[in-house]
Amino acid sequence: MSSALNRRLEMLNQRYEGVGPLAAISAITEEEFEPGKVALVSSFGTESAVLLHMISRFRADLPVLFLDTGKLFGETKRYRDQLVDMLGLTNVQSITPDPAAVAARDPKGVLWSQNPDACCALRKVEPLARATAPYEGWFTGRKAFQAASRAAVPVFELVEGKFKINPLVTWTKTDLNNYFEQYKLPRHPLEADGYLSIGCMPCTSRVEAGEDARAGRWRGSDKVECGIHLPAGQTPALVES
Ligand code: SF4
Repeated sequence: MSSALNRRLEMLNQRYEGVGPLAAISAITEEEFEPGKVALVSSFGTESAVLLHMISRFRADLPVLFLDTGKLFGETKRYRDQLVDMLGLTNVQSITPDPAAVAARDPKGVLWSQNPDACCALRKVEPLARATAPYEGWFTGRKAFQAASRAAVPVFELVEGKFKINPLVTWTKTDLNNYFEQYKLPRHPLEADGYLSIGCMPCTSRVEAGEDARAGRWRGSDKVECGIHLPAGQTPALVES
């Protein structure tokens, strides 16, 4: 990784320390990156509406990359359509796995049950790497409170030569709830049913009281991230081994 990128990373984290997400998003999209060089990656999950709404206030045409793994809940796709209409987002792109790779490596669609890291590599990591290739950076909606594994996430990270930007990282669940109420944002239809963090259907379960919001993801295994949010060097193998 180049020292120039590392210096920029350090400078960005110093510049945006303590800056609220709205001011940060405005400055980052207008000043820090050239037009067309920053995107947003959204799962359209339980808390996604907040960041999508903030982005829509400044740049409704910002590229929004939505990973359609082929294993999502139908409710998530309907929620995506609802938010796109409501927020006037004009550049939402569905990112899908390579059909030839799926046919070769997961012909029966059950790889998730045999090797979830390989399934996430096929259906999430590789498509996202292709989709983010034209950009210098991308926004994520990660928050520190979501799980112990995210407690120390900074606003800017540098992973595989790309800046990952986490403007909501210091926000609490109360901050998010207040924002939902202030702007009358709709909730993901599965949230009221106990799904507090929503990914692919086979790998998502309800969360019990007192558990981390992400405790329902890959329940019963030690897997906590799909690979797109692992630190540099810890990304799962990009092809099934
Ligand atoms: S979350 Fe589950 S179904 Fe989705 S890509 Fe990962 S292993 Fe496959």
